[in-house]
Amino acid sequence: MKSHDIRSSFLDFFSERGHRPVASAPLVPQDDPTLLFVNAGMVPFKGYFLGDETPPSPRAVSVQKCLRVSGKHNDLEEVGPSPRHQTFFEMMGNFSFGDYFKEEAIRYGWQLVTEVWGLPPAHLFATVFRDDDEAHELWLNISQLPEERVLRCGEKDNFWAMGDTGPCGPCSEIFVDLTPDAPQVDWQTGNDSGRYLEIWNLVFMQYDRAAGGELRPLPKPSVDTGAGLERVTSVLQGVASNYDTDVFQPILAAAAELAGTRYGADAAADLSLRVVADHVRAVSFLLADGVIPAAEGRGYVLRRILRRAVRHGMRLGFEEPFLHRLLPVVGEQLGAVYGELNATRQASTATVKAEEEKFLDTVAAGARQVQEEIETLRETVRTTGTGAAATGELPGDVVFRLYDTYGLPLEVIREIAEEERFGLDEAGFEAALEEQRSRSRAATDAGQGRMLALRDALRGDGELPETEFCGYRELELDGARVLRLALFRGAGEAVRATAIPAGGEGVVVLDRTVFYAEGGGQVGDVGEITWLGDDGAAGRARVTDTRKDAAGTVFHFVRLDTGSLAQGTTVRLMVDGERRRAVERNHTATHLLHAALRDELGEGVRQAGSLVAPDRLRFDFTYPHPVEPAALARIEARVNQEVLRAVPTQIEVREQREALAAGAMALFGEKYGERVRTVAVPGFSLELCGGCHVGNVGEIGLFLVTSERGVASGVRRIEAVTGAGAYQRVRRQGELLERVAAQAGAEPERVADEVAALRDGLREAEKELSRLRVQMVSGAAAGGGDDGGPVEVDGVKVLAREVPPAPVHELRNMADVLRGKLGSGVVVIGTRDAEAGKVTLLAAVSEDLVGRVKAGALVRELAPLVGGGGGGRPDFAQAGGKEPDKLPEALAAVPAAVRAQLAG
Ligand code: ATP
Ligand code: MG
Repeated sequence: MKSHDIRSSFLDFFSERGHRPVASAPLVPQDDPTLLFVNAGMVPFKGYFLGDETPPSPRAVSVQKCLRVSGKHNDLEEVGPSPRHQTFFEMMGNFSFGDYFKEEAIRYGWQLVTEVWGLPPAHLFATVFRDDDEAHELWLNISQLPEERVLRCGEKDNFWAMGDTGPCGPCSEIFVDLTPDAPQVDWQTGNDSGRYLEIWNLVFMQYDRAAGGELRPLPKPSVDTGAGLERVTSVLQGVASNYDTDVFQPILAAAAELAGTRYGADAAADLSLRVVADHVRAVSFLLADGVIPAAEGRGYVLRRILRRAVRHGMRLGFEEPFLHRLLPVVGEQLGAVYGELNATRQASTATVKAEEEKFLDTVAAGARQVQEEIETLRETVRTTGTGAAATGELPGDVVFRLYDTYGLPLEVIREIAEEERFGLDEAGFEAALEEQRSRSRAATDAGQGRMLALRDALRGDGELPETEFCGYRELELDGARVLRLALFRGAGEAVRATAIPAGGEGVVVLDRTVFYAEGGGQVGDVGEITWLGDDGAAGRARVTDTRKDAAGTVFHFVRLDTGSLAQGTTVRLMVDGERRRAVERNHTATHLLHAALRDELGEGVRQAGSLVAPDRLRFDFTYPHPVEPAALARIEARVNQEVLRAVPTQIEVREQREALAAGAMALFGEKYGERVRTVAVPGFSLELCGGCHVGNVGEIGLFLVTSERGVASGVRRIEAVTGAGAYQRVRRQGELLERVAAQAGAEPERVADEVAALRDGLREAEKELSRLRVQMVSGAAAGGGDDGGPVEVDGVKVLAREVPPAPVHELRNMADVLRGKLGSGVVVIGTRDAEAGKVTLLAAVSEDLVGRVKAGALVRELAPLVGGGGGGRPDFAQAGGKEPDKLPEALAAVPAAVRAQLAG
């Protein structure tokens, strides 16, 4: 059986048994701040298990993209050595949301494994949680396995949890004996040696673990199972390792060929090839789901995986970027199952290549840095006889600096240090790292925890329903009902309340709303809520922001101007219409920009984030280098051309499949329901989008790009304005031009030529001025001591005088000219700016004298007289000072200073 067939057989088996097939969610969890990446098939269904959301069907089956590189499930370090651990893998799972429980779960599992996949029962084991007598009994009855093949295990292995908090429960696992013909060994030995392989975990989801560790029973006991596709494939294909299956063989072969070797030829190289083959899958899928390499968060994890692959590539002998050349192989293998791989391949390849280049540069530059640090340490030992080098270790803070500032992986620092026979103070490094981690953790938690805390405060005893949004067309609504209220107390803490008093601030949940909650890059609406209180008095609240949580409950952030607002009140809603219209113009313009960018720069361009605000729009996209000004101008023109066509936008709700087939641009990495909303500008743009748009693109009026710049490696950002914002910008620029023209004394049309002519004239005048100044000064070389000319000091001509203020390069020129005029001699010139309190001294010595008089020594002696310091070469030196009054004194001291030097 090929891996593709195994995937289908799983989906078919459970579909036939009433399970609704659900497509894999993106690797980035939607609105779940407790988790960096989806690490199990149950994650997208968390809300169903907790009872926060209602599943469309009580049974589901999925093959879910998983990544185990952070948090509770982290297998990163296993990858390479382990034959059965991946970072990225596909988890097949069947789910019951309060429908069937242990019995069917076990029955289905056993049936699929033995009847469909045909594994002999004699090769199988089952484990159950220590105290789970029920599961134990069921296994004996259903599978007919002998008692010694149904084992009771402890919490570590048979109590499953997604993370430190959230759904969890006892579990039961199916194991395969990989060498059934070998003599039997005890369970522990077989397990430790990898002979007994866990392929499928059936979790009996019963509890929700709270932050304090307390286990709360879930509303309905449920089932969640997970079987790794790669592991099952290895068993069914009868090979010893996941890497020997058809999942990995093509990638390994391609990587080996690039490296000029063969998988299986050398143990160390094989390990590196496995890491590369595994990581290129993880990198491909992360990029396809919209994660971009970055210095923190998810982007940082992606960068680390990518760099780990490159480091192993270096071991394989790659000196040039290579990883990006393997992306197409992953695409060929899985593109048919995960369309996002193909849709993003071009952009991802460019991003990976750029990252690889950057990292290789980093390693080269960092290696030099490590060497310098080691040199400095050795120097300290030489001069003081003590210091860190005496211990032969790079101190922890130094290692951390190299790691943090230069982005050097610890392994690379260690390797270079070892070549210099230095160790690393790893404990010190860990401490510095941990300190930084807890700082950044505190920062992210604060932001993400707020919505959760708010939801907790509002939820109370009952469920919070999804708020109906009816504000795409209407901006006013009469008769919405207040379902819940929260009140902000000091320090932003929210508590559930039955009323918000006049002057108070809080959050309102309504049964329906016309306020758009922040989402899809579009900012939340602001506006007003009004009502008549029980006492007949009118009340009014300002809505300052609108947001929603994962379940679709909309939170209106309000400040009460007059009256108090009680739960149950019927209210009237008014969105700030002018602001919303401006937002709509910017949102539709963002879609036009997206389409125009792809037209101009190619399909490799992918959206990487956007902000749609009333006064501007911002669009981030993947692209490896700056957009040429000419291309940017064409893009801007293209958008405006669409605006002038003034066609109505078409907004529809339809089946996701149908929309994608019509070519709708979907942002991979976003969760779309089965029925999706599409926004079309007919003939030009079609996107899945839940945001607010103009009825006709002509409303945009005018679209102007205001900036284009890079925001991360391989990611560019365009900012633009439309409508009133664009009009104001044009007006402002027009006024500015009028002012400039008036100043330049020319008509606006001629102002550029006029300014160029003015600058030319100015440059000429400056040159002339400079020439005159030097000429004026150079006359001094001719006169005698009395009229400021040179004096003789022990047979050497010495010229010391003050010159008018001039730029430094000109002063140097003056000193040079004077030295030339003297032929042989010493020149010191000084100039001062009394207002700024600055003195500049320059000394020049003719070449024949540098053996006897040093310009550097001269200024070093003179500078203190004007309250400063300086130095330079023997033939030329410069100094600055802060006491302009003292300049004559310093110049007067020149002959004596020269005499002293001549005397040696
Ligand atoms: P192990 O103890 O082998 O690391 P686990 O107990 O962490 O596995 P579960 O969390 O129960 O695994 O995940 C369910 C199934 O997913 C496993 O039975 C296995 O088939 C698969 N699986 C788990 N981790 C990985 C991984 N890193 N790479 C590939 N498959 C995995
Ligand atoms: Mg594990």
